[in-house]
Amino acid sequence: MSNSESISLSVVIPVYNEQGNLPTLFARLYPVLDALGRSYEILFTNDGSADQSGELLAAQYAARPDVTRVIEFKSNYGQHMAVMAALERVRGKVIVTLDADLQNPPEEIPKLLAKTDEGYDCVGGVRQNRQDSFFRRYISKLINWIRSRTTNIRMSDQGCMLRAYSRAVVDGIVRSGAVNTFIPALAYSLARKATEVPVAHEERHAGTSNYSLYSLIRLNFDLITYFTTAPLQLFTIFAMFCSGFSFLLVIILGTRRLIIGPEEGGIFTLFGILFFLISVCMVGIGLIGEYMGRTYQVVRKRARYQISHILEASE
Ligand code: UDP
Ligand code: MG
Repeated sequence: MSNSESISLSVVIPVYNEQGNLPTLFARLYPVLDALGRSYEILFTNDGSADQSGELLAAQYAARPDVTRVIEFKSNYGQHMAVMAALERVRGKVIVTLDADLQNPPEEIPKLLAKTDEGYDCVGGVRQNRQDSFFRRYISKLINWIRSRTTNIRMSDQGCMLRAYSRAVVDGIVRSGAVNTFIPALAYSLARKATEVPVAHEERHAGTSNYSLYSLIRLNFDLITYFTTAPLQLFTIFAMFCSGFSFLLVIILGTRRLIIGPEEGGIFTLFGILFFLISVCMVGIGLIGEYMGRTYQVVRKRARYQISHILEASE
């Protein structure tokens, strides 16, 4: 860490099975950065790729050892851990994150840097004409809405990974030691002066998205649970209403029993109410589980990721 901050820019890129994209990424990214006229480094994290990504990264390191660093994970720990591992090792004053699949054009990096030069410490890209499936865009809108209602994080496009941060913000992210987190939102919560810029968005250059529906759901749970316990509280409030209502029902039914005598016609209504309440309980237990599981992961302090080796020139 001796010459920490002696570099002006660090670019952080998580890579998972991106062999079809890496050659084009290299061909487009390096010229953009070379043209900036600032000292820079690029940190790739190979997140346990099963394809040729590792070999391609090693070859690129051999070609440009002056500006390239490659962190090799032992297996797949997910995009945000891949970014985290790189953030823990950056040397630049400004840090830019980027996806490897060229959905975020590297040519947009100077736009972000113009903002950090103005003194903003967190610059978020907002994807214009987002090139993702209708389903993905719809889910994004929904999660954006939930997030904006339950947290004080204000972002127009949380899913865009093309972002720039000051070193102070990145140090804050690293110090947080977060396990299940959503880095753009965490960065925002640590920033003093945040802004956004419109950036182009392209279709995935090659291959398909690495996110299955399951990992997408998990990631979005991470986003909400890391920043707020509002769902737990909303649930409690809802449960209180339900129990109040059920109590009223018991009183009404009890009174009817005393006045009219035994009735059987209401059995299905009762079943309906019962099933409803049981499902409410199940949701609540699941919700508690979401928080519990994450608490557990933090408490047991297991290594968040394992590195097999790092390719970098000695300082
Ligand atoms: N990625 C990763 N680990 C994973 C999944 C994805 O490092 O387990 C990387 C991937 O290589 C890409 C970025 O994270 O650079 C975004 O992934 P992807 O394009 O699949 O997500 P989408 O654009 O569909 O949200
Ligand atoms: Mg993508």
